[in-house]
Amino acid sequence: MARLTDPITMLKGIGPSKAKQFANLNIFTLGDLICHFPRGYEDRTRLVPIEKLEPDVPACFRAMVMNTPKTAHIRKGLDITRVQVADTSGRLNLTFFNSKYVSDQLQYGKEYIFYGAVSGDFIGYNMTNPAFEALDSVPVTTRRVLPVYPLTAGLSNAAVLKAVRQALAVCDAPAEIIPEEVRRQYGILGAERAYYAIHEPSSMAEAELAKKRLIFEEFFVFSAGLSLMRASRAEKKTESYANLDLTPFRASLPFTLTGAQNRAIDEILADFRKGAPMNRLVQGDVGSGKTMVAAAAAFAAIQNGRQAALMAPTEILAEQHYESLGKLFAPLGLRTVLLTGSMTVKEKRLVREAIASGEADLAVGTHALLSEATQFENLGLVITDEQHRFGVSQRAKLSAKGNDPHLLVMSATPIPRTLALLMYGDLDVSILDELPPGREPVDTFLVGESYRARINAFIRKQVAGGHQCFVVCPAVEENEELGIKAATVWAETLQQTVFPDLRIALLHGQMKGAEKEEAMAAFARGEADVMVATTVIEVGVDVPNATLMVIEDADRFGLSQLHQLRGRVGRGKAKSYCILTSHNKNQETLQRLKALCKTTDGFRIAEEDLKLRGPGDFFGSRQSGLPTFRVANLSYDLQTLKDAQAASAAWIDSSGTSERPEAVALRQRIGELFTRAEGTMN
Ligand code: ADP
Ligand code: MG
Repeated sequence: MARLTDPITMLKGIGPSKAKQFANLNIFTLGDLICHFPRGYEDRTRLVPIEKLEPDVPACFRAMVMNTPKTAHIRKGLDITRVQVADTSGRLNLTFFNSKYVSDQLQYGKEYIFYGAVSGDFIGYNMTNPAFEALDSVPVTTRRVLPVYPLTAGLSNAAVLKAVRQALAVCDAPAEIIPEEVRRQYGILGAERAYYAIHEPSSMAEAELAKKRLIFEEFFVFSAGLSLMRASRAEKKTESYANLDLTPFRASLPFTLTGAQNRAIDEILADFRKGAPMNRLVQGDVGSGKTMVAAAAAFAAIQNGRQAALMAPTEILAEQHYESLGKLFAPLGLRTVLLTGSMTVKEKRLVREAIASGEADLAVGTHALLSEATQFENLGLVITDEQHRFGVSQRAKLSAKGNDPHLLVMSATPIPRTLALLMYGDLDVSILDELPPGREPVDTFLVGESYRARINAFIRKQVAGGHQCFVVCPAVEENEELGIKAATVWAETLQQTVFPDLRIALLHGQMKGAEKEEAMAAFARGEADVMVATTVIEVGVDVPNATLMVIEDADRFGLSQLHQLRGRVGRGKAKSYCILTSHNKNQETLQRLKALCKTTDGFRIAEEDLKLRGPGDFFGSRQSGLPTFRVANLSYDLQTLKDAQAASAAWIDSSGTSERPEAVALRQRIGELFTRAEGTMN
């Protein structure tokens, strides 16, 4: 017996060059191969009489060869072989291109099983290049449910199929991790049967059952992982904070906190009293004031002699938090430092010294804060902003820094409850469901190209009124995809031909960290009128003077992403606007965009987005911090997710740390999953 970790080169027909092609699909081991699931199936089980064959609908039929195949040499490189076949219902002419072997294989007077689609013309039906097999052959391309695999250049479906079949024959399926009682309760196939049937289903119904089991399994593993993390943290002890008086902090604010902010802060303070590490998610729509909640938490930790760390996903955002929190904390006698990857070695060293000596009370930064080189004197609280960009494993890594610090996670992406459970099942949740007073909703419009002159006039009007505008494009450079606005080119056009008298700035993800930061900072200082940007500005950046956002080719973005982008305006006192442009004529797409014009409720938009796009696309690719689900992306079944979550929670409670074989195998899988999730980050 071979093992799942053995390389695929041990299989017949897979040498170094084939292995390279498989590597393009991220397949290196037998286990990878067995977990390379079909993206769909072709039902070739049913045999159809010839007269019932429908044009362009591929089907199987059994027929006798009625003459000796004749091959005609048309020209160099083109041979055509013709043969007639028949069953009791009718006759059919078959044509094969460049398939000389057909004349040897199809024998006059014998019966075969064919698979193909007829195409009609005035002389009658004809079929080109059907697959065929002898009646007594092992079914490979006919008389079966054929899996259709994700492929890569040079690798045919048949080649993948053959490799998978061999792998299944030489090694056992991945170990069972779902206990029998759970499988029985939810009608779930066993591991061995499911891993076999996903590749070799005896019927479409069995393929469905196998898929259901594997989706259940993925959710089960992930939820169990979160439950285990939660359980292991709950056992930990920390000293509870004695001084939770926030009066000086509140007094230093230029505004009073909203009711929702106060509620969230109270929940955090209650966690600080408990004597166990806090694990809390603060979820609030863009502009709901999460930063102040974070600041209050940091202040409380620092009052109790601890250091706090605030981690942001981009340098721009870290910089901005550093600016605003530094200003807030300095008069209170607290020292804030900034640590980002693009700082010079010397700057970083100085900051790290201040962190290590305890001189720095609050450290704001990017993932540079996570690196080995950063040692805290007494880290009590870790805050991550816009957490959906950090994976579960990063969360675990952060907790491991210092002495079981409190963990506060902030997310502006309103997440449907079910998905929130999936991503944040290990966290308690506080919700900011209230905006600071005086905020007016951002008026949003969807327009076509015919409105271009009016859009330009509107930009001019905002600038004349002393305000600034964002113009967001889906691409950085021209020709990444035809017909989509590219930030670099569009910025040039606006500057040269449309607004030669205005100051146009450019910001995109391919710029260097320092350049990006400078561009954004300059814009925030009012040194440009219009900023043309890609989605780099999506996260958290605050320019209260910006009152208009034009989003070009808005159909290119997800609803939640558009909502997030829109949140960059309407942050000051002046009325703000968002204009979505689209060439798209698809009614569904336009409907989707119109939904955004009607509501500013992030949760409703998120639910809508989830329904339309499924969880895989929910946050845009690779940004969710979720591991890539292999089967669950194929088809998303909310009920299965809920069942898997309930089942895994109960199982972890009762037997999660036991030595039952399923429990041991489950823990190993969780470990693998969370390392894999980490590998796909950034
Ligand atoms: P987000 O939740 O999107 O991170 P921020 O924390 O950036 O929101 O807050 C958005 C803006 O609202 C900031 O300019 C902040 O100073 C301001 N703000 C926060 N809380 C209040 C409040 N209670 N009253 C008035 N303005 C507030
Ligand atoms: Mg924020």
